Formats: sequence, structure tokens, C-alpha cells
Amino acid sequence: MCGIVAYIGKREATPIVLDSLKRLEYRGYDSAGLTVEQEKRGPFVARVAGRVGKLEAKLVGATLPGTVAIAHTRWATHGAPSERNAHPHGDCRARIHLAHNGIIENHAALRATLIANGHRFSSDTDTEVIVHLVEERFRGTLEDAVEAALRELRGTWAIVVLSADDPGKIVAARNSSPLLLGVGSGEYLLASDASAVLASTKKVVYIEDGEMVTVTREGFRITNVDDAELRRRLVEIPWTLQEAEKGGHPHFMRKEISEGPEVVENVMRGRVRGGEVKLGGLETVSKRLDHVERIVLTAMGTSYHAALLGELFFEELAGIPAEVEYAAEFRYKRAPLATRNTALFAISQSGETADTLAALREAKRKGMLTIGIVNVVGSTVARETDAGLYNYAGPEIGVASTKAFLSQVVALLLAAIFLARGRAMGEREAQELLEALIRIPDAIRSLLKEENEIRALAKRFAHYENALFLGRKWSYPVALEGALKLKEVSYLHAEGYNAAEMKHGPIAMIDERFPTVAVVPDDSVRDKTLSNLEEIRARNGPIFAIATRGDRGVSSIADGVISIPRTHEILSPLLAVVPLQLLAYHIGIARGCDVDKPRNLAKSVTVE
Ligand code: GLU
Repeated sequence: MCGIVAYIGKREATPIVLDSLKRLEYRGYDSAGLTVEQEKRGPFVARVAGRVGKLEAKLVGATLPGTVAIAHTRWATHGAPSERNAHPHGDCRARIHLAHNGIIENHAALRATLIANGHRFSSDTDTEVIVHLVEERFRGTLEDAVEAALRELRGTWAIVVLSADDPGKIVAARNSSPLLLGVGSGEYLLASDASAVLASTKKVVYIEDGEMVTVTREGFRITNVDDAELRRRLVEIPWTLQEAEKGGHPHFMRKEISEGPEVVENVMRGRVRGGEVKLGGLETVSKRLDHVERIVLTAMGTSYHAALLGELFFEELAGIPAEVEYAAEFRYKRAPLATRNTALFAISQSGETADTLAALREAKRKGMLTIGIVNVVGSTVARETDAGLYNYAGPEIGVASTKAFLSQVVALLLAAIFLARGRAMGEREAQELLEALIRIPDAIRSLLKEENEIRALAKRFAHYENALFLGRKWSYPVALEGALKLKEVSYLHAEGYNAAEMKHGPIAMIDERFPTVAVVPDDSVRDKTLSNLEEIRARNGPIFAIATRGDRGVSSIADGVISIPRTHEILSPLLAVVPLQLLAYHIGIARGCDVDKPRNLAKSVTVE
């Protein structure tokens, strides 16, 4: 999820890896650490909860001769952000050290076996199992031990490992988390990100999934799972440092939208099997969940829109009455809620949203079961709820939330299926829906390829001063979110409305200067929305639509259409929101706005 760096060469390693860690700071992280291999004194480890600057301060005055080092910035997924959970992690004898980005899905089972074999753990992370596994398999050659350990892992990883018992060597491996090898003169760097190596070299080899690389001062050897040696060409990083930070994207917002497919994969990882949803984070309260008769979802901003979808999921799939409350209202309202058997879902990307936190505390005071849907591990909402679900979207830098929204919606859907399976929902129905969900990442990938059309549409749109976003049922929260995104990043006045509300007021605004963005996938309410669009067209309002691929009815009415792949109707929001995010982004750019840091906004709203 966050950053990895390693160095092996002739120069003193500590300042180099510290400098590289600083280059990774923009990604957002919660703790940092490094291990330096010292020939005479063995490995030296320093870790802190907090910034790289704090790590650096900790090292002031320390003489750390050593030309091999690994380092890490952590964005916690398992275990709170704290010094003991910071990487690198060591084995029982503190001889082998390892830093990891990603998530080990089968960590609990591996930990139990390793403990039974006598290993002592000193952190709450999923990562620590890897280093003990390497220790278990170590027979003198580090790469052999790492290779054997990797066979037992499930999940995602980029790792760097060193061992005092096989010195002068770094072993690294990748599976679904980025990793590259920078090749300098007489030195090598490994990193999760090109920006971390650019100060030393522009020449790199990209390590692919399922590959391992063994690096010494003399050279490197890349192998795959079958231990076959692979030949790789060096490539030149085409980016400047600034471009590299954003993975070649001009803005974080675009980078984060483009991460949508992986984000959906990550939130499902290890949680979906056949027709079953397994949510470890809810296990401790499963008895209470069995008796839940009512659900309240509370949130603000983009998370509020995810909550509106959550309401539909819980009602439609699990048959549990659900309602959404603005956290800011809930905290002050004397709602006559039956609190027994009511569960409150608090949704917040940062887990620090002041209003959401206050609502959560109020719900606890009333005796409700509280459940968090949070992206930042160890955040206040995560700590104070009875149970919860992390959405593992990784750090989000763009102030306007994009990828976190996708992950929240999927997390809520998984929670709804989880509750529904014990109630109304049969295995077949669940399986069908989950199979369709598994296809969503690829569908988003295909949507992202249509960016040129969206950009062209944005150009036609950018001169308007107002816009109406319409949708019904599943598409209504999407319309609200599309309008919010546009407001946030382009400062254009946009309203999200339920399409059915048009006649009750908003249609009065429609003329040739007032465009409508209609979210109208081919679902059970498509025809109704289409009638609303006819009415808009009759009043000369320009129409831009998000519709299912091949929907002639919509394209004959609209001035511009962005097509989305056909999917299960419940999942259409996951596809429809992506072009709306891109549309807002391109309109923002066309209007010269700072899309990553819109004026007047803060990423995490920690005040009332
Ligand atoms: N899952 C690991 C942890 O929580 C790695 C997190 C990361 O990628 O920074 O420690």
C-alpha cells in the first residue's frame, strides 16, 4: 500500500534510503523504518510511528557504516500505526529483516502454525509471518528461503529482505504490488516507486508479478516461480521526479481514478469465495448482527453518497429496514430510534471526520451496535466502533474522493450480502451477484480506455455555468456524487436530483444553457428516466448521458453519451461513477482549476 526502498552498493546506505523515503512521503503513510546491515555489529534497526523526519532525528549521532539497507513507509492495513508495527520486521533472532507492501491474506493461519513451531511474534501485522517463514526455511541461502516462503503466501506483496547470515545481498519479490530495480554504476536500488530511485539512476528493470530478484554488489538475477532465470532489458524512466510521483499521471486525482480496478479487487480480496462473503472484521459481533432489525448509516460528503447505496443494498438484498442520516444531523437530532437491535454503520475514508465521530459516539451512548467502514487503519472511527470493515483503498491524496468511494460501495455491498446470506438471500443469488462483482475491475479497465471521449465531452461542457445530474434508484446516489465531484473540482454549480423529482420543480430551470447529465443504465427504472429526459429535450435542455453500451433509446435523445458495460443492475453504480469522476476531472482541468487541491477544501474534515 505504501513505500519500499532498498540499497546495495559502495556508498553509505543510510542517507540514500532516507532520501528515497522522503521522496515517497507524498503518498501518505503513518510510520517509517529502516534496517542497515553492519558488517561487524549485525543489523541495525530504527523505526518510528510518524514521519520520516522523526526517523532521521532518531538517527542523529548514530554512526551507521553499512552499504546495504532496506527501508519502508507504512500505510497500515493490519495492526495500528505504531512503532512495534512499523517495518522492517525481524525474525526471532533479529538476523533476517523484511519490509513489505501489500496484504497477506492467510496471515492468521500461518501465524498460528509458526507460533506452534515456537516462533515469537512482536507485532500485530500480517507482514511478520513472512519473515518468520523465511527464518523457518533458511538453510544458508537467502533467496532459497524467500522462494520457499513465498510458496506459502496468499495475497499481495512487494518485499525486500536481507539477512546477517547471508550478507551482502538483498532479495526482493513482487505479487500485485509495484516493485522496480534501479541499476546505477556499481550500485542497485529497489523501490516501489520510480521517484525513490531517480536521484541515483534513471535506468530500471520493472519486476513483474510472480518474480523474485536477488541483488548483490556484483549484479542481479531475476527468477520466476519455477526458478527459471529471466533476461530483462533495462529501461529508462521517461519521467521527471514530479511526474514519477504521480506514476506518470498529471494529477493525483487521475492516478486515483485509474486505480479503481485494483481498489475493487483489494476490498474483495480474501473476502469472497463462491457464494459466500467472509468478513473477519464482523466476526466478533456476528451474534448481535443475527438479531439486527434496523440499520442506520451515517456519514458526510462522498461517504454519505456511498451510504445511500448502502441503504438500498441492505433493504433490497438483506430485507433489513435501513436509513441514512447525515452524521451532522444525527448527532443533534432526538430521533426516536429503537436502539435495541439497531446497527449503526459509520462511513468515513479518514476515520477522523468530526461529525461522523460524534454521531458514532451518540449511537454508542444509545446502546447501538456500531460498525465502521473506514480506509485508514487505527483511525478514531476504527478504534471506537464495535467492529468494522477496512476498505483497503490505499492512501488517497486527491482531496476530492474517487477511489475511496468505489471501495466504500463495495464494502457496503459485501456487508449487505454477509447479512443477507443468513436471511433472505439464497446461495445462487449471492453467487450470481458476486460473480458479476468479480468482473467489475475489468469492466472499469475498459471504461478507463474511453477517456478520450470523456475528455471531448468535457470540452463541450466546460463553458456552462450550471448542470443538473439525474438518476433514479441505484443511479440516484451516483448522480449526487457526480454533481459533488463537479462542484469540488471545477467550481461549476451542479445539482444532483432524483429524476422523478424533475416535474416537482427543477425542470423550471431547463433551457438551452442548462445541461443535464443523466445516469441511465439499462435497469428496472431506465424507461422512467428516459421519459424525464424526453421532457428535458422538449425544453431544449442539452443532455449528456451515462448509458449501457448499445442503448439506442438513450443515444437518440442525448447530445452526448458515455457507454458503460452491461452488468448486474445493483453493480451499475460502480461503473457509472467512474466516467463521472473523469468528466469532473477534465472539466476541472479545462476550467484551469487545481483539481488535486480545490480551493476552500480539506481532505479530512476534522472540525464540525
Ligand atoms: N500489510 C502491511 C502492514 O499493515 C503492509 C502495509 C503497507 O503496505 O504499508 O503492516
